[in-house]
Amino acid sequence: NDIAQRLTRSVEAVGDTTREALFEPVIRIGVTGLSRAGKTVFITSLVANLLDRGRMPQFGPSAAITAAYLQPQPDDTVPRFEFETHLAALSAPDPHWPDSTRAVSQLRLSFRVQPTGLLGAVSGPRRVHLDIVDYPGEWLLDLALMDKSYADWSQDALARAKSRGHAQEFLSALETVDGTERHDEPRARSLADSFAASLVGAREAGYSDCTPGRFLLPGEMAGSPALTFAPLPPGEAPRGSLAREFERRFEAYKTKVVKPFFRDHFARIDRQVVLVDALGAIHAGPKAVEDLRQVMADILGAFRPGRNRFLSQLLSGKKVERILFAATKADHIHHTQHPKLTAIMEALLRDARDRADFAGAKTQAMSLAAIRATVETQMPHEGRDLDCVSGRLPSGKQAAFYAGELPSDPAHILSPARAGAQDWLDGDYEIMRFEPAKLTLKPGEGPPHIRLDRAAQFLIGDKL
Ligand code: GDP
Repeated sequence: NDIAQRLTRSVEAVGDTTREALFEPVIRIGVTGLSRAGKTVFITSLVANLLDRGRMPQFGPSAAITAAYLQPQPDDTVPRFEFETHLAALSAPDPHWPDSTRAVSQLRLSFRVQPTGLLGAVSGPRRVHLDIVDYPGEWLLDLALMDKSYADWSQDALARAKSRGHAQEFLSALETVDGTERHDEPRARSLADSFAASLVGAREAGYSDCTPGRFLLPGEMAGSPALTFAPLPPGEAPRGSLAREFERRFEAYKTKVVKPFFRDHFARIDRQVVLVDALGAIHAGPKAVEDLRQVMADILGAFRPGRNRFLSQLLSGKKVERILFAATKADHIHHTQHPKLTAIMEALLRDARDRADFAGAKTQAMSLAAIRATVETQMPHEGRDLDCVSGRLPSGKQAAFYAGELPSDPAHILSPARAGAQDWLDGDYEIMRFEPAKLTLKPGEGPPHIRLDRAAQFLIGDKL
């Protein structure tokens, strides 16, 4: 495919010398969000647009970018973000969405910039590196486990399982188990499996807080003992018992899984994007939105050092400078609704910020579409014209669609009191899954998007 080839060539054409690299600034951007929030699509489109400097009118760094190219990343043991594969999926003759994030990956995008104005006259071109780190938001939520004992965690996890109703199988399996029994691996495995299945069920039903995160996205740790445990009701845990072994594994999960992730990846991030499928949660209903509200506060909590003892020690003063909090897939709704979606994001952000400050980090809420898969249109309905979006369905057919009105006051859907409501917005809010539109890009054009340039400006505009 043409675009992918062009980009690969540009990677090969440019090499850096180590001497120069010593003095070159590196900005590490973390991209996170729960699974299917849109991380993969976001990074792919952002990088494609930055490489081609195509559709980025709102991205205006003070220096002139004279070149943008991909380079081998500095971290040899972290998987590379498969940019070319993902872009090829989106720009194929029969375009499809790329495979989603399953674990940490990384990509280095380098810029050659020429400072303008007075500075430009005295200094030559500079090079700035952007290290983009993609990681599941589920893993971030594990931070909450760090200050918890196995008994505390079990209590919370069981209460959640009971209240959500996606854990019938696990809860009945639990009734046949006695924690004081001798540990037996097949039994432990089967209990852990049904616990993991209950988390997957809850996630599919739109719940956001489904920790431990690796039970949903195990990465290379699938099947390891540190991922083979489940919550148990309170009770004795004699030596050699199932309860004792689960407790030990829970501790191993904390020290051998959660801790290295925070140390090796999270602690090194300068700027962070948190992507949220807010429309998806609104579609799933009041309980899912209330859950999202709490989870967003938890995720954003990870950026407030001091809140968590473990994290404060790890960061020892290092701070994330900027946090962008963005609702994705805004192309699912007509632009007249975008301010309402942004207002919902702002309310979520405020909610998290009210509990404590982000230690001076600059924050911004936004609604965007990394890839615009729809076009706007109007449809007559009961004597008036409805503002719709139209896109390609999985069947290949083009369809226009009215998603319903988002509330003008975010409090209408974001108050905890609403969580008990059966449905809302008169049940008229719906969302559809569109396939990506066929890309017909001229040379130098990036994929179409909504406000991705503003996102880039907030994240790196001041650094170039
Ligand atoms: P990840 O799990 O966070 O990496 O999520 P992905 O980036 O894989 O996105 C999950 C799905 O959301 C995609 O397969 C698309 O169906 C949808 N999606 C993501 N971004 C967009 C967007 O900008 N517009 C539209 N219409 N759909 C999107």
